[in-house]
Amino acid sequence: MSRKIIVIGGGLSGLAAAWTLERAGADYTLIEVKRALGGSIHTDRRGGFTSDSSQFILEKFADWPFLPALGMDEADALAPMGRYRDGALVAFTHGTGALIDALAARLTRPVMMRMAVSSLGFLSRDETMCGVCLENGVMMEARGVVIAAPARYAERMLRSLNAQAAALLEDYQYDPTLRLNLGFRADDVAVSGDANDLPAPLKFVQVLGHDRLPTRIPDGHVLVRAGMRVADLADAQAGAAAERLVREKLGITAEAVYRHVRLWPEGDPLTCYAPEHKATMAAIDAQLPQHVRLTGSDYRARRLDALFADAEAQAQAVLAAIS
Ligand SMILES: Cc1cc2nc3c(=O)[nH]c(=O)nc-3n(C[C@H](O)[C@H](O)[C@H](O)COP(=O)(O)OP(=O)(O)OC[C@H]3O[C@@H](n4cnc5c(N)ncnc54)[C@H](O)[C@@H]3O)c2cc1C
Repeated sequence: MSRKIIVIGGGLSGLAAAWTLERAGADYTLIEVKRALGGSIHTDRRGGFTSDSSQFILEKFADWPFLPALGMDEADALAPMGRYRDGALVAFTHGTGALIDALAARLTRPVMMRMAVSSLGFLSRDETMCGVCLENGVMMEARGVVIAAPARYAERMLRSLNAQAAALLEDYQYDPTLRLNLGFRADDVAVSGDANDLPAPLKFVQVLGHDRLPTRIPDGHVLVRAGMRVADLADAQAGAAAERLVREKLGITAEAVYRHVRLWPEGDPLTCYAPEHKATMAAIDAQLPQHVRLTGSDYRARRLDALFADAEAQAQAVLAAIS
């Protein structure tokens, strides 16, 4: 019997799960709906600027064993950015996307891009074989499945495989988020650091100089980062509105020399902060068989190291269930 495992979603969690399977010598295929890997991690490199439109400055409370395991030397890969509570703040010296590139480079099994999984089902009465249906009508067989896609999509995939588990993911709520990165000549921006007393719906505004991140900000320039909640996803002017608010706040009139704007419909997974979410996840885990597991930021983990650890644990659970 085939021992193929299908990993759905090529964000950090799906890649970390696939890499776990890779190291275990398993037969897996990764399926990603978009044209690029990384999911909600996206690094833009243009004109000497390297900006991230999601994870940029990260909290680091402990060792990150995945860095050396991926051949990344921590001293080269990470730049210190300060302290947060009892941990460090760091940024990837070449963008958070460097982590995605390192993971993707380790995968030797098929990676199917621009392919959406629409639904899952069992192919045998004893529920050992799964059918993974793609939007183009093709059905792939698998002994195990790691679902590393957001809850909004996982809910649809699970409807025919396990209606109770799907129902528990129904109405998962997100806060759409916009990220703005603007590059200016340093002489055109009088302030630095974090801005306070921000007008709604701005969440943060930060000005970083070349001295803070020399590998990512050209000499003589600054990078202005901002985050904003977006109430109406159809608002095509949201980026321009964010830029106007940031300019007003910082008193900048000069033209930007670099601009990277991105809207994330599933920016902030609100449901996972609800007090009952842990119990809901336990109920979903109990509903699903061990060879069909969920992993990702909508479920059990949010920080980078926790996402890695959960993806590894879920991939290993699937492996154990089918061996
Ligand atoms: C604006 C923003 C700022 C953030 N800031 C921070 C931060 O400062 N610190 C921090 O720790 N975290 C931060 N995060 C969170 C962090 O980026 C995520 O937790 C992490 O990247 C999630 O990875 P994931 O693989 O679980 O999910 P995702 O990145 O969402 O990946 C899921 C993948 O599944 C794919 N997919 C969806 N449906 C299908 C389908 N039907 N078939 C196949 N593939 C499918 C998607 O295309 C996507 O590639 C931020 C996120 C955002 C959006």
